[in-house]
Amino acid sequence: MFASIISHFSVADKLVSFIPILFLLSLLTAKENQNLLQKDEIIIDSNYTFEEIFSESQFPEKIRKNLKLVSVEYFSFDDKLHRGQILIHKNLANDIIEIFKVIKEKKFPVSKVIPINKYNWSDERSMNDNNTSAFNFRYIEGTSKLSSHAHGRAIDINPRLNPQFKDGKYFPANTSYDINITGTIARNSFLVREFTKRGWKWGGLWRRNKDYQHFEKLN
Ligand SMILES: [Zn+2]
Repeated sequence: MFASIISHFSVADKLVSFIPILFLLSLLTAKENQNLLQKDEIIIDSNYTFEEIFSESQFPEKIRKNLKLVSVEYFSFDDKLHRGQILIHKNLANDIIEIFKVIKEKKFPVSKVIPINKYNWSDERSMNDNNTSAFNFRYIEGTSKLSSHAHGRAIDINPRLNPQFKDGKYFPANTSYDINITGTIARNSFLVREFTKRGWKWGGLWRRNKDYQHFEKLN
């Protein structure tokens, strides 16, 4: 009898001493769940509707009607998954969706992907912010000819790392081109391969005035 009381006590004692351990375990599990949640989280860089983008801008309807707003996911330079948007010619939307799947898979860092209305349609401001974009209603500099971007048939990727090189100078200003920095597009880069096999051309292969950020498909 005495012995059984003792053993009873000791079971109760053991249970009591388990409580803090259980409490700690539950805390750890909660922390782990939180970490998982954080891993799944997507940072939204851009979340416009088509109408919002054009609400304060007048562009020819014959150009606007050919554009499609596409959502893309990519890892940015913070190593986190982001979601952005690209305005692209509707016939090229599929290429862009497929190529961004590879970009995400390979974790090639893309700084941000936001339609250029965010920058008041200023290519310079968008480039300075290292923003990746496609449609922009603009003329080829120094001409009255519409740029391939004005038809949504060109995309610029990480412009600060992949600047234009014109007349011995890099644009945007205060940038340089170094293929050893991640996010930079080189001749043997998978990006050049992915675009080229779908019929796009890379500005990094132009004979004069290289444009390392630029891919286009004119028809
Ligand atoms: Zn371009």
